[in-house]
Amino acid sequence: MDKTKVFDFERLTTFGEVDCACGQKHSTDTKILAVGRGVIEELPDALKKLNVKRPMIVSGSFVFPTVGEKVCMVLDKANIEYSIFVFESNGTKKLQPNEEAVTEIIEKFNPICDILLSVGSGSVSDVCKAAATELNVPQLTVGSAPSMDGYTSASSSLEINNTKASVNVNAPVGIICDVELMAQAPMRLLWAGLGDIAAKTCSLCEWEMASVIKGEHYCPYTANMVKLSYERSLSGAPGIPERNLDSVQAVIEGLLLSGVCMSYVNSSRPASGLEHYFSHCWEMMAIARGKEYDLHGIYVGIGTVITLNIFKKLRYLRPDRARAEKAAAEFDRDTWEARLRRVFKSTAESFIALEDKLRKNDSKNRMQRVDKILEKWDKLVEILEKAPDPEEFEAVLRSSGMPTRASEIGLSADDVADAFVCSRDTREKYLISSLIWDIGYMDEFEALVKELV
Ligand SMILES: [Zn+2]
Ligand SMILES: [Zn+2]
Repeated sequence: MDKTKVFDFERLTTFGEVDCACGQKHSTDTKILAVGRGVIEELPDALKKLNVKRPMIVSGSFVFPTVGEKVCMVLDKANIEYSIFVFESNGTKKLQPNEEAVTEIIEKFNPICDILLSVGSGSVSDVCKAAATELNVPQLTVGSAPSMDGYTSASSSLEINNTKASVNVNAPVGIICDVELMAQAPMRLLWAGLGDIAAKTCSLCEWEMASVIKGEHYCPYTANMVKLSYERSLSGAPGIPERNLDSVQAVIEGLLLSGVCMSYVNSSRPASGLEHYFSHCWEMMAIARGKEYDLHGIYVGIGTVITLNIFKKLRYLRPDRARAEKAAAEFDRDTWEARLRRVFKSTAESFIALEDKLRKNDSKNRMQRVDKILEKWDKLVEILEKAPDPEEFEAVLRSSGMPTRASEIGLSADDVADAFVCSRDTREKYLISSLIWDIGYMDEFEALVKELV
């Protein structure tokens, strides 16, 4: 094993199934995970290993002149023929990961190609995974920035009907992350990667709490791997402003490992909790306002700092049944619907329909959860105590130069409050905000998050 590599990815990807004590068998569909300096040169070998002959390169207009050109050079040197499709430049606007972009790839795909070679980061990777799944061809990614942990995942985050949705797709068969190339990515993308990995300090706790309250499957083995992944990535934070290669490598390795963990349990649970819902909500709010949204990881990093502060306040609370009962009796469906419509405009209707299916607001269902929460409160506090101290943690993130407060990226105290209160309504996942609503403390915590802007 290369000494500069902390994680033995080769072992992770070729080890086959892990027969785990949690009762599940864990595996990943990704066969090649190459991370390190100069690993772009391994691309021809990777194609050979995957038994494919002609890649179709798909890239964005910003990334193609740097990483894309390098990919072409490596393929030319190895006498490998390829086809190329580069998304047209749209001024300074980022590529929108929507159905049109996926259709464009499908239409431009040269049928003599036998693999889709995605060159880029978040959006390009999302649309390529979806297109490759539709085309029924394997997909290999050459990463251009350590900006998120979704490279290895079997889901794509796509804009569908004015909302961001997670779509099930085939996971890439290979990922190549050349540290030297990725270190040159725009600084904001490097920060975004740190933000996305920071999330795991919260999501791990929420995962364990959901197993206690809702009986969701929980795997201590995978949880420990996620912990290793964020410790590894965050060790790189102070070296990010100088684009130190060891630091960038640390960030990438942690992000990839976190992605593998999601495949291991076939769920985003280990890697995504309330902090991610701040991001989902702010994205949807931007779409509803007709504005461009910020990078996923930038939102998630800020959401993480807020969530850690929520965890800390929650640790000192003693919830009781009377208060929860009072909140349940006072719940007003019209006020609840009106807020969703104000925040998300037309998209709110799908959240209202989701409630009609789930009935999470019904008093009886709510009080059943409350009883469980009260019964297990000491255990829940014990789990919350595993999360880092918010102030110390924010200082680690700040050492990279990244924004850690919503006001730094143009969001208001009301935007933070709306995202927090509505987070529990946008998808099915049980979040820490769901718990706070259940026990009747929403107003107190809404006031807290507003102060954290
Ligand atoms: Zn397990
Ligand atoms: Zn994420």
